[in-house]
Amino acid sequence: MEGLGTGIRIFGCKIGIVSKRFFVYTKPILILTLTLILTSTEQVKRQMEEKYIKEKYMKEALRQAKKAAALGEVPIGCVIEYEGKIIGRGYNRRMVDKTALAHAEITAIRKACKYMGDWRLEGCTIYITLEPCPMCAGAIVQARIPFVVIGSMNPKAGCAGSVLNLLQEKGFNHQAEVKTGVLQEECSKMLSAFFQELRKKKGKKNAAVIQETDTADEPSEPK
Ligand SMILES: [Zn+2]
Repeated sequence: MEGLGTGIRIFGCKIGIVSKRFFVYTKPILILTLTLILTSTEQVKRQMEEKYIKEKYMKEALRQAKKAAALGEVPIGCVIEYEGKIIGRGYNRRMVDKTALAHAEITAIRKACKYMGDWRLEGCTIYITLEPCPMCAGAIVQARIPFVVIGSMNPKAGCAGSVLNLLQEKGFNHQAEVKTGVLQEECSKMLSAFFQELRKKKGKKNAAVIQETDTADEPSEPK
């Protein structure tokens, strides 16, 4: 027996037969559509989870940056995550420690290496509020950190694509996966507010002091 057998005849067509044939022909399309909807929903869910995780750790890096600001240092912070745990934290202490090496990333890498008991930081993700300078980008490559998450970019000194891209230089034996713009507004605003405050405190007469602070880390377009 073809079709539903009990179809109603309208204008000479049996509705039951038409419906069954329609279902037979459209079944694969319906299944495909449903699969695509479920897959894209899963992808969106995963993307949202990844975004949440990245922002969660970037907030920790911002907390570190605030510690630098409290010391009158350019607010730059960094954390290194491994298997869901923060294993290294750091913030800019260049002026307090009186050394060009006291960048947030270097401190965090040193601590993470101590935790791992290894100079290699494989499987780790480094979160930085500002695009790394040549020294820190070099240290990230040296430590073989595979994932780098950046808040705001630094057009004047950044080495993750702004001035140079040391993190993805094909000539090196290590390239990192880089994600930029995570909590970009918060990271950028923190730097802009710091430099605005600094100018207000020092006034134009003491522009040299601002120079000493090094505006290379100041966003070019304050927000
Ligand atoms: Zn640096």
